[in-house]
Amino acid sequence: MFVGHYAASFVAKGLEPRASLALLFIAAQFLDFVFFPLVLLGGEQLSLLPNATQSTHFELPFMPYSHSIWAAIFWSTIALIICRSLLNLSRTISLLVCLVVGSHWWLDLLVHTPDLAVWRIFSSDASKWSFSLWNNVYLSFAAETCLLLLSVAFYLKKTHPTSKAGKYLVPAFAALLLVIQAISNFADLNVESEAAFAWQAMTMFIVFIVIASILDHHRSGGPANNVTTEPLNIKNSSQ
Ligand SMILES: [Zn+2]
Repeated sequence: MFVGHYAASFVAKGLEPRASLALLFIAAQFLDFVFFPLVLLGGEQLSLLPNATQSTHFELPFMPYSHSIWAAIFWSTIALIICRSLLNLSRTISLLVCLVVGSHWWLDLLVHTPDLAVWRIFSSDASKWSFSLWNNVYLSFAAETCLLLLSVAFYLKKTHPTSKAGKYLVPAFAALLLVIQAISNFADLNVESEAAFAWQAMTMFIVFIVIASILDHHRSGGPANNVTTEPLNIKNSSQ
């Protein structure tokens, strides 16, 4: 799954508008931020394979440290501890970040082919789960699109623009995400190596986090750290 992961971020932000959307974007791709560096270091495996499924051009033979169910539980717990003890975030925000980190595994489960280990995770005959929507490009694209659009609608309903940009940036960003999703699903393989793929993905994730932090400044709620005292400047919002 790609842009559908951000559905968890938008829903969490809608539930608790004082949370930072940028932080929730980091949380949504946290497991991939573990995965891609490990691919570059040789600790986990991504193999490019043109038309591996209708929607993808790669296989994921070994990723126990980032994408086994136990890794998902481990990294969600680490995220919870970091939010509470290092970032001093509220219990609600910390719990939401933890759930968003964990949501990555369940959303991947929907689309991946069997590569998400649940048992004997380091073994070559690990038992791996998936619902394999990637095997049907229309279904997988529809799933990502629905998740994103429904969650963005919820986010729009629960937050308000505090500037003109805050109104137009969200639909523009959602459209950008869907275009990138369409390219990723329907285009031919467009990278030359696994390392290039890893760098491209991480660069995109970071750009999205920067855009999310810009949204934080143009819609009510704002980043987690300067929450409560902001005057509500939303009278002329039409959301
Ligand atoms: Zn993933």
